[in-house]
Order: sequence, then structure tokens, then C-alpha cells
Amino acid sequence: MSLVEIECGSLPKRLKKVRNASDANHSHNACNPRSQGYSSESLLNSQSSNTKPGSLDCFITCDNSYNPEESVNDKNWPLYQFRPGYLWVSDLTRQHWCEQQLHYSLTVPGLVEEKPVMTQGTNLHLERELAVHDIVDVKVTSNEDIWTIKVLNMINAIAGFMNGGSIAREVPIFGAPFEKDVFIVGLIDELRFDPKEFSIELWELKTRMRKSLPSKAQCSQHQLQIMLYKKMFDDMVKGLLKKDTIAKHLCLDFQKEFGEDIQSHASRLFLSSTNLEELMEDLFTRMQCLTCIQSIGVEYVHQDTKETIGMKREVYNETELQRLYNHYLGFWCGDRKAVGVEIEDAWKCQSCDYADICEWRRLKAEECVQKNSKT
Ligand code: SF4
Repeated sequence: MSLVEIECGSLPKRLKKVRNASDANHSHNACNPRSQGYSSESLLNSQSSNTKPGSLDCFITCDNSYNPEESVNDKNWPLYQFRPGYLWVSDLTRQHWCEQQLHYSLTVPGLVEEKPVMTQGTNLHLERELAVHDIVDVKVTSNEDIWTIKVLNMINAIAGFMNGGSIAREVPIFGAPFEKDVFIVGLIDELRFDPKEFSIELWELKTRMRKSLPSKAQCSQHQLQIMLYKKMFDDMVKGLLKKDTIAKHLCLDFQKEFGEDIQSHASRLFLSSTNLEELMEDLFTRMQCLTCIQSIGVEYVHQDTKETIGMKREVYNETELQRLYNHYLGFWCGDRKAVGVEIEDAWKCQSCDYADICEWRRLKAEECVQKNSKT
């Protein structure tokens, strides 16, 4: 893959943000170091005419030439079978919609193709992202480099706020919520920082084909997503996430020196770190100078006109989040089998790609027939 690097300014004046390219479409497999190889990363640079003073203006993504060694885990849990290393937040939100559907998507590959609406949504995300920073490619030579890119992008977001910026987009986030032994990774669409109030809002962008707000079930999915983001962000602000936890779950060598390209990029950002141990320490220090996320919400945008349909604030309910999280981990950790939707949510099956093969749906239909035959 060709390597594109655009000269960026110094960190205090022109902040740089970095990101793993595969985060852009929230694809787990593309980003999981055990599921796919990598070769380079792209870095966004502040050449955008829309770039505002103090805004994030540089972004790094990765290409796929590096081939890490496979780490085979013999456990039978779905977590190890399908998501070795970590889960994506989107795994949990899809599970919230229908766990059986999620399971089919993991076990019956190739049945679902990317739909135009997904592509348009991805394009709109990219468009918004490019309004605050440009991209530069950076070569990666190890898993450690790939995760370094994520950490650099987080540092860029924080540095942007500390230097007068008010918006950060596509900010990586990760953690092990509620002290469970499961690592979660996500990508926050937008953080808005108010320096006067010293407050941070989190906004998720969702595109809609229709000019109307989504159903209650969809809103519930979105609420779970942003609650998880807030939980992981706040955990870092409170110093609850430890380096050892990250290194253990991601099987990273924190002492390994950055690859050449990462090293030179980090020094251009005036970062003295030479390995993840130092960079993570830097990240934690910066995060702990921030404040917890004050409010969370979802912006719904019409995909054709790009008009905002509505801005819906959601309530953060940690007790409910923990309850759901524990329940969903039951599936991932092999405590129980996947379950489909209940009868009241059977409308979801009408648009499900797996409806024709779904055993859960067949059994529920049989149950209904039996019940009706008795009445
Ligand atoms: Fe879930 Fe219904 Fe699809 Fe089965 S058919 S996977 S129960 S949505």
C-alpha cells in the first residue's frame, strides 16, 4: 500500500489526530490483530479549509500488510471463538437488537451484503470527520503500532481541547467496564468540549433514510452504545483502567519500541514516548485532567439531504447499563446460548436477513400455534 504523509504543524498550534483505518466503519474483524494482518496506517492532516483554530486536524489510519502471529485460544466461548482479544461496542448493540441475529452473523458468514444506506452513513461520518482534520498514512509494523495509533488519536483529541478546540470526532475509546474480565473497544463519533463550563458532551451520529426519528427499539440500541462510551471514558478519567489490563487483553508488549514511522510521527507531535508504556502513561495523565462526560445524545441526520432530523439527549443509567452488560456477557462467556427476540418484538424478524433459517423464530412460531390451538 502506498504511504501518504502530509506535513503537519507542531502539536500546540496544529494538533494531530490518529486513527486505525478499520475503525472508520466500526468493523471488528478488520481491526482485530488476531483476525487480520496489517501493513500501514493513514494519518489525517490539517489541510482542510474548514479547520478551526485548536480543532483536531490530523488523523492516522492503517493499511493491512503486517501479519501478527495467530494466538489460538482453546476455550469454546463465543468471545474466544469470534472475538479473540476484545469485543466492539457495536457487538453489544447488535446483540441488544437480537442476540440470535448477531450469532448468525458470526456463524453464517456471507449471507448479508453491505447495503447502500450503510455506505452513505459511512460517507457522512467521513465527511464530518474531514471537517475537523485531514488524513495522513503512517506505516505500522506491529500490533503495538496499531494500538499506538489509537492512543495517539485519543491524545490528540484531549490536546485539542486543552488548546482551545471544542470538537473532537472519531475518538477511539476502550476499557473493561464493571471490572469484568472482558475488553471493549469503540469509536466515539463526537465529543464537544465547553472550556468555560469545563464540561464534555458526547454525541453519536446516526443517518436515516426517512426524515423521521427512529423507533423506540432503535433508540434503545443507540442509548446502550453511548452509555458504554461514557462508562469507558469516565473510567479513564477516574483512573479506573489500568495499563496491565490493556496489555493483558490485547497481548501487547508495552516495552516494544514504536516502528520507525510511528516514532517519527510522535516526535513531530512533540511526544517523547518511545513505547506504549510511556504513551499510555501520558494518555492516562491527560485523561485524568479532564472531566467525566456530562451528557450524552444522538443526532439523527437525513442521509439524502444531510439535514438534522433531531438531537435526542439520552439519560445515562449506570445500574441499567450494568444489568444489560452482565446479561450480554453471559452469552459471550458461554454461560448461556444465544436467544432471539420475544413475541412482542417479532416485528424485527420481518426485516431480518436470517429469518428463513432462524431456528428460534421457527420454535416461537410453533409455540404460538400450540397456544392458539388450546384456546
Ligand atoms: Fe432474531 Fe427474528 Fe432474525 Fe431470528 S428471525 S435472528 S429471532 S430477528
